Amino acid sequence: MNNFENRRVLIIDDDTRIHEDFIKILGEKDSKSEYNEIEAKLFSDEVSQVESIVYELDSAYQGEEGYEKVLAANSEGRPYAMAFIDMRMPPGWDGLETIKQIWQIDSQIQLVICTAYSDYSWNEVLYHLGASDRLIILKKPFDMVEVQQLTTALTTKWSLSCESISRLQQIEESEEKYRTVVDSVEDTIMTLDKEGNIMFVNHNPWNMINQAVGGNYYYDIKDEYREKVKQTVEDVFSKGEQKNIEYATSNGVNKTVWSEGRLTPNYKNNKVVAATLIASDISARKALDWQLRHDELTGLANRTQFSDYVKSCLANKDSEELLVILFIDLDHFNLINDCFGHELGDKLLVRISKLLSKKVDENEMLARLGGDEFAILKCVNKDDSWVHKYAESLNDLLKQPLTVAGFDIYPSASIGVVVVKDTATTVTSLLQDADAALYHAKSKGRNRYECFDQKMRDEVVKRVSMGNELRQAIENDQFEAYYQPFTNLSKGRVTGFEALIRWNHPIKGMIYPDEFIPVAEETGLIFSITKKMLMMGCSQIKEWQDMGLGDIVVSINCSARDFNEQNMQQIIEETIKETGADIKQLELELTESTIMDDAENSIECMRLLTDMGLNISIDDFGTGYSSFSYIKQFTIDKLKIDRTFICDTPQVQDDVAIVEAIIAMAHRLKIKVVAEGVETAEQLAFLQTAKCDVIQGYLLGKPMSSEEATSRLQQGDWPNQELIKKI
Ligand code: C2E
Ligand code: CA
Ligand code: CA
Repeated sequence: MNNFENRRVLIIDDDTRIHEDFIKILGEKDSKSEYNEIEAKLFSDEVSQVESIVYELDSAYQGEEGYEKVLAANSEGRPYAMAFIDMRMPPGWDGLETIKQIWQIDSQIQLVICTAYSDYSWNEVLYHLGASDRLIILKKPFDMVEVQQLTTALTTKWSLSCESISRLQQIEESEEKYRTVVDSVEDTIMTLDKEGNIMFVNHNPWNMINQAVGGNYYYDIKDEYREKVKQTVEDVFSKGEQKNIEYATSNGVNKTVWSEGRLTPNYKNNKVVAATLIASDISARKALDWQLRHDELTGLANRTQFSDYVKSCLANKDSEELLVILFIDLDHFNLINDCFGHELGDKLLVRISKLLSKKVDENEMLARLGGDEFAILKCVNKDDSWVHKYAESLNDLLKQPLTVAGFDIYPSASIGVVVVKDTATTVTSLLQDADAALYHAKSKGRNRYECFDQKMRDEVVKRVSMGNELRQAIENDQFEAYYQPFTNLSKGRVTGFEALIRWNHPIKGMIYPDEFIPVAEETGLIFSITKKMLMMGCSQIKEWQDMGLGDIVVSINCSARDFNEQNMQQIIEETIKETGADIKQLELELTESTIMDDAENSIECMRLLTDMGLNISIDDFGTGYSSFSYIKQFTIDKLKIDRTFICDTPQVQDDVAIVEAIIAMAHRLKIKVVAEGVETAEQLAFLQTAKCDVIQGYLLGKPMSSEEATSRLQQGDWPNQELIKKI
């Protein structure tokens, strides 16, 4: 007996005798009763075979009543398994109507319609009720055995069909549960056949694939990974082992999804029949990996990737091959950023990256190391001469004028080249060598390339040790200010001095600024040095003032790093206060590139300083990039024409024209002009006629110690009036 056993039988017939017959046939037999004994004799043995089944019989005498009983039984949760229904039951519903009604409220009940020969044929019944496996026609008069067998079969059928419905429900429920679990997993879970056809796939909002069951998974996989995945699936089938895979699929238009998955063989009868793939979306991790190894602006490799690549190339270097590393630095890129804005600067970098990418082959690498610095790793056969041609071609390529966002830009680049001779060397030292070569290219005037040689490394070492020595020199006050006079031509006398630093090294003797100022700038020590020079210069102003030597001006050279990174205004205020010097006698010399490094900030800073009464002059004018239109914005007092323009005057006409033009333009802007490096009387004569305001140079005085400057000031007649009058 199963849980669904139901032997409830409803008899619907208007004839009470029929009910009695059914009770006789199906009712509970009392083996001891007299009636049964007779019956047992009368009926064949078959009856006893069904004796064990006990039916629960119910009676209704009209179709409507039967309907009500079915309804009540269902609502009590005790439905009938079957009903015998008479075809004719006047005055109420006939059998067909009753069946129609009952089926509307009970879809499980098995029905037997009892008809006389005169009633409907089977076809007519079918016509009215439609085909059903729940309806049987029983012709009257009944055969007892037939009725019993029918009842047993139909009530059993009811139970079995209920049981199978319930089982199905259970399966559906469990399938549903399992579906919910599988679909709520963020990973893609699918079963593939040997050809990659999808036999099952979960569905979730994060789904990484476009394909449904029946589709082929390889279709989604990007070309470059397809073969690898195919091979792995085949391996899982042939070897029956688990395999890990990583690949990219394309999900919809242009969207790449990175997957990391594990393929597991599914066995049936000891044979692999499918492979289950559980794959996670690792796109976010891949994106992060990408970011860590790429430059976002240009999409090129970054420093990390470049170093790794150099390392792997060193490890796998072919003996016939030459590795060459080139560091490329755009000249004066800051200026482009300042003048045209960062957006244009970025566009220019992208353009340059595209130009450079044409110069590298597949197994080589172009990287952006940061800012305006690029690097190339070239692999070439052993022919040194090629390296020079290649570096030169890069210089030429980067010299081409470019139109970016409607502006014509004239870039140029400095390049440091390292030819890798020794594969035992480290990446770090190679990159340092490239840096050293680049440093040389820049210090030799930019827009050129330099190949690394050992001397450069020695110089780097020297610079590092000089940095350490400089630190001590600052502590031990080894600096001295030398003073070079400048002469005001209209006044015909020395009106001031430029303070030039000298390093009195205890062992090496006097060291000139060109040797150590760049190192001081690189190491950040320049600021302490400038402070010392300011202090010496201001004390000197005060001393000469106190000695009654007049309002002698002292100018101090200021580096880019001082000016842009430090609070110059505050330092000057403090120095002036401490020494008691008059700020009107202090001058600052700034080079154009110092100002242009961060033009906006410089302009603001210059305004603050000149508001305090300080004078500012532009040093080495003509070597930098600023134009007069820019200079208008500077609150400056003087321009110092670089000595490279003066040295060939008055012989070289171009220089004469340049100097005259600078003087004329400056005067129009009410800016005084100083000529630097005046060495000959001819130069002096030319500058006098050109209406230059102030001259400075060996002709009128070399840089000298404070004592010498003081004694010459005290002697008066300086410069020699004869020299000036002669002209
Ligand atoms: P500068 O500012 O252009 O200084 C002028 C340089 O030209 C000085 O070299 C000076 O001795 C030299 N000079 C002057 N007249 C003549 C001449 O008629 N002919 C020739 N051939 N040279 C002449 P010095 O003293 O070696 O200074 C070199 C550079 O070092 C200076 O160039 C300046 O840029 C830098 N410097 C000097 N002192 C300081 C300082 O205290 N701080 C900073 N930041 N830089 C300094
Ligand atoms: Ca100067
Ligand atoms: Ca100068």
